[in-house]
Amino acid sequence: PALGTVVLDASDVTKRFAGLVANNAVNLDVKAGEVHALIGPNGAGKSTFFNMISGVDDPTTGTVSLMGQPMAGKPSRAFARLGLGRTFQHVRLLGQRSVLENVALGAHLRGQRGWVAAMLRTDRAEEAALLAEARRQIERCGLLDYIDTPAASLPLGQQRIVEIARALAGQPSLLLLDEPAAGLRHLEKQSLAKLLSQLRAEGLAILVVEHDMEFVMNLADRVTVLEFGTVIASGTPAAVQADPRVLAAYLGV
Ligand code: ADP
Ligand code: MG
Repeated sequence: PALGTVVLDASDVTKRFAGLVANNAVNLDVKAGEVHALIGPNGAGKSTFFNMISGVDDPTTGTVSLMGQPMAGKPSRAFARLGLGRTFQHVRLLGQRSVLENVALGAHLRGQRGWVAAMLRTDRAEEAALLAEARRQIERCGLLDYIDTPAASLPLGQQRIVEIARALAGQPSLLLLDEPAAGLRHLEKQSLAKLLSQLRAEGLAILVVEHDMEFVMNLADRVTVLEFGTVIASGTPAAVQADPRVLAAYLGV
C-alpha cells in the first residue's frame, strides 16, 4: 500500500470480560510508513487489544478493519492473508532449527496449509521458492552471517530479529510486535530500532506494544496510551510525554 494508507483501523473497540471492561471504545489506526506504539501499565488492556486486531479474539462491540475490510468473525489465518505479520511476547522459534528454516516457515504460514504441512515439506519447486524468499528476508534483516545457525544459540536480540524476518517472509503490510525490546541489552535495542526504522522507510505499517519508554519515544511516530482499558492520550511522543494524565498514570504525579 502507498505511504499513508490506513492499513489497520480499530474503531470504538470494546472488550468485556465478566464484570470487567478490558478495552473501552478504543480507536487506533496504523498507516503504511509509520510506527505506532501502544503503551500502558500492566493490566491496561494491551494484550486484549492485540488479540482482537490479530484475529485471536473478537471485540464485544466495535470494528477492526484490515486493508479496508471489516474482520468481524474472521480467523487469524484471514488476517495473515490480508497482510498481518506478527511476533510474540515470548520468542517462538524452533530452537534446534537453523535461522533459514525458521524464516522459511513464515513463508509457509502465509499459505493455508499451516505448520504441520510446512514441516512435512511440499514439492521441490515450492520449497526452493520459499527458501529463496527466506534468504531475502534474512539478508534484509542483516542476519546472513547466521543463516545456518540454530536459532537457540543466538543471543535474544538476534532471536527477536529472526522472528521479525519470519514475519516478513509472509510479505505483510502490517507488522505487530509484542514487546520486542523486552530483555534486550542497549546495543540490541539500537539494532532493533534501526531495523524497524528501515522497515518503516520501506513502507511497512508497524504497531509496537512496548513497556520500554525510551525505546518507544525514540522510535514511534505516534504513541497511544491505555489505562484501565481506556485511551488516555494519543499523539506524537513529545505531546504524549507532556500529557498530565500520562504522567499521573506512570509516575503517580
Ligand atoms: P496488558 O496486556 O495491558 O497487561 P491485558 O489485556 O492482559 O493487559 O488485561 C486487561 C485486563 O483484562 C486485566 O484486568 C486482565 O486481568 C483482564 N483479562 C484479560 N484477559 C482476560 C480473560 N480472558 N478473561 C477475563 N479477564 C481477562
Ligand atoms: Mg500484556
